[in-house]
Amino acid sequence: MLLTDIGQLIVVPPGPLCGAQMRAPARIDGAALQVRDGRIQWFGPAQQAPEDPERVSAGGGTVVPGLVDPHTHIPFAGERSGEFERRLAGESYLAIMQAGGGIRVTTQAVRDASEDELVAVNLPRLQRMLTYGVTTCECKSGYGLTAEDELKQLRAIRTLKTRQPIELVATYLGAHALPAEYEGRPDDFIEMISDPALLRQIADEDLAAFCDVFCDAGAFDVDQSRRVLQRGLEAGLRPKLHADELKQIGATVLAGEVGAISADHLECIDEAGIAALRGAGSVAVVLPGTSFFLGIEHCDTRRLIEAGLPVALSTDFNPGSSHIENLQWIMAIACCQLRLTPTEVLVACTANAAAAIGRADRVGAISVGHQADLLVLDTESLAEWLYTPGRNRVRTVIKSGKVVHSAA
Ligand SMILES: [Zn+2]
Repeated sequence: MLLTDIGQLIVVPPGPLCGAQMRAPARIDGAALQVRDGRIQWFGPAQQAPEDPERVSAGGGTVVPGLVDPHTHIPFAGERSGEFERRLAGESYLAIMQAGGGIRVTTQAVRDASEDELVAVNLPRLQRMLTYGVTTCECKSGYGLTAEDELKQLRAIRTLKTRQPIELVATYLGAHALPAEYEGRPDDFIEMISDPALLRQIADEDLAAFCDVFCDAGAFDVDQSRRVLQRGLEAGLRPKLHADELKQIGATVLAGEVGAISADHLECIDEAGIAALRGAGSVAVVLPGTSFFLGIEHCDTRRLIEAGLPVALSTDFNPGSSHIENLQWIMAIACCQLRLTPTEVLVACTANAAAAIGRADRVGAISVGHQADLLVLDTESLAEWLYTPGRNRVRTVIKSGKVVHSAA
């Protein structure tokens, strides 16, 4: 298949792209791109395009790699709009949590749901995300908080992989929150949730590629988090970390120490944390949907880019602190409030997001041999896309060379 009439092709190279490299992707005006066996075979100026019997017109639109959302809390059940209203009336997220709300409400809903129900309520979410241009997405457990319910969430992810076109990458987040029945006994909970037999089962059944921990004030401390991540590593699950979101307790330094593929959130990151991520080659995943949704200070993302880190962006889609499934909305926040350029934002949501989930060699780039995951936008430039927040400019979504969504 030859994709022709591309107004502008944004040539994002494979990630991770650090610092100033995030501004470097080339553009080709009047381009074409050839796909063979689901992969990019050739791209360049249209007048040099090879012959191909099957031609698909991009209608003069901009073409970019399919978006990668590297941090979501799909699959979840239940909803917390009542808490949203209370927060808007002045109660804090923490006060609502201490009064029995927050993650524990979602945990109850997930425990009450069957695996089939989890699949049924999360499938439409992924189907909508596809229309916004997401072609690869990370999904986490972390609301079950028992071995059985965590496995149920991971199995729901495995089923969701087969029910819709978005490629899903699973993460085990058993140490997400302390469930009520373990109140006052966090170390017992950590023992249960990082039981080597459970971690081995997750790895053996290929239920997850990564192991994540919420390492922060009010969640798990550095020692507890290290224990879980090391056991995960021994079972073959690569570390990831929810780090430096609420308070600086050394979480990002731990991410570097264990060689985490990414450290996510980073609102309170310090110089030691930045140095640790640089040393370990970890991707800094920034989640501005959370700070937007909670009305708190954003992560100083420019500082991370200027420090030479590869920065990725994600929705953190979850029912409490970022009920935002549209990655384009996050891209708009990143431009307008984090002061990232449209090119940096695109790289953060493609090449670097792919690197944050270990897929940079296959997705997130316009590169020969990469999967042909592509978006055709109804705009003449990248800037025009991000200049229209709230309006979906994705005209066509292509996954592995096949059109999987068309706005028409
Ligand atoms: Zn999260």
